[in-house]
Amino acid sequence: MGSMDQPRQDADVMVIGAGIIGLATAYALVEAGREVLLVDRKGIAEETSRGNAGGLAFSDVLPMANAGMLAKLPRWLADPLGPLTIPPAYLMQITPWLVRFWRAGWPDRAAASIKAQSAMMRLAASEMAALVNDAGLAAMVRSDGVLELYESEAELAAAGPGWRARAAEGIGFSHVRGADLAALQPGLAPRFVAGTFIPKWQTVSDPFDFATAIGTVVQQRGASFRRAEVKRLAPVDGGVRVTLADGQELVAGRVVVAAGAWSKALTKPLGDAIPLDTERGYNTTLPPGSFDLRRQLTFGGHGFVISPLTSGIRVGGAVELGGLHLPPNFARADAMLKKAKAFLPDLQTAGGKQWMGFRPSLPDSLPVIGFSRAGRNIVYAFGHGHLGLTQSAATGRLVSELLTGAPLSLDLTPFSPQRF
Ligand SMILES: Cc1cc2nc3c(=O)[nH]c(=O)nc-3n(C[C@H](O)[C@H](O)[C@H](O)COP(=O)(O)OP(=O)(O)OC[C@H]3O[C@@H](n4cnc5c(N)ncnc54)[C@H](O)[C@@H]3O)c2cc1C
Repeated sequence: MGSMDQPRQDADVMVIGAGIIGLATAYALVEAGREVLLVDRKGIAEETSRGNAGGLAFSDVLPMANAGMLAKLPRWLADPLGPLTIPPAYLMQITPWLVRFWRAGWPDRAAASIKAQSAMMRLAASEMAALVNDAGLAAMVRSDGVLELYESEAELAAAGPGWRARAAEGIGFSHVRGADLAALQPGLAPRFVAGTFIPKWQTVSDPFDFATAIGTVVQQRGASFRRAEVKRLAPVDGGVRVTLADGQELVAGRVVVAAGAWSKALTKPLGDAIPLDTERGYNTTLPPGSFDLRRQLTFGGHGFVISPLTSGIRVGGAVELGGLHLPPNFARADAMLKKAKAFLPDLQTAGGKQWMGFRPSLPDSLPVIGFSRAGRNIVYAFGHGHLGLTQSAATGRLVSELLTGAPLSLDLTPFSPQRF
């Protein structure tokens, strides 16, 4: 029982952000018997988790700033619509992040990062399988792997160190050519001479459908949802005071910040200087049947992927370090679609819908999962970059363990909010 002067609680645990991370966190907390209030200013999965590529990319364990990627960087930056761009208007703001990004790719840091990310991915795979099974969502997951494509033997050879690092972590794959390549995906332009097939990679039917299905299950199991914008958090006796944009104040026993790319506005005033920024990404979703796509395809040299979704054929990716406020530049989506047509000559490119999303990105490509400096009633769960869907169930499990005091499934040191 609380003492007389303890404030009334409006929520046992409040989860701020109903993207895939907040949803999977709510899922794990409800399972652990907690009362959950999910709060989002837009709705359920209306931001980044809505329109991503749908990949459960368990083999993506290299930091973004790996040696192979850094070698491509000059060529990429020279193309204003290429795989990685920095609008001049944002160059000043992003520079400190870029310095950290570049440093994260040095061999000493990259090796430690691969170890941490591989452990996270093993948990991601087992927790996602458990969530999908428990929530009855098996029909929304395809298990037919992914095919990474190369335009030359030299490009495959350059990817060699990355594949050897993955092999050392027990990740299975095979390099394919000729008839084996054509069997995995017919209709590729002849420029693609080799590929790598990763069988354990999965894709969801559609990321928005998948996320909202989790949202429905958590609400059926007792979680509540409220549409509201959170402005401020402040630790108080026995919990956290939450100030909403309309001035209303609520008190929650514990708070989870899962506000994706926008999380810094809430965490900075609490004393945590976390270098969160955004890698904006673009895509076009073509009508279903626009191509006979057998599985997800990735074009590492061009920074984009093509996904077979129930909602259509989604073409996109790219990284634009443009912050949260610059207007989108959909010429990027057009540029990727044009390339996709050259790569898959039978692709029908009419009738597409364009989208931009804000990846929540830390410069070392690892998310932040841990307690706030302001106290153990506030937990952070954001910054999953390119991998939020993939790592959502694992993140939910870890946050639930932190909040209930259960033994941790993973050493969280590499993911600490205080590591910077
Ligand atoms: C083009 C593209 C392709 C991608 N492909 C993949 C992929 O194939 N596989 C993969 O694993 N990942 C992929 N990602 C990354 C993935 O989409 C993200 O990592 C993930 O969606 C992040 O989820 P989140 O819940 O942290 O953020 P979000 O989905 O952005 O959710 C954050 C939520 O917080 C809410 N919010 C923010 N501030 C407040 C506030 N103050 N008060 C209330 N609510 C607030 C927002 O409204 C939003 O709904 C891709 C991303 C992009 C852009």
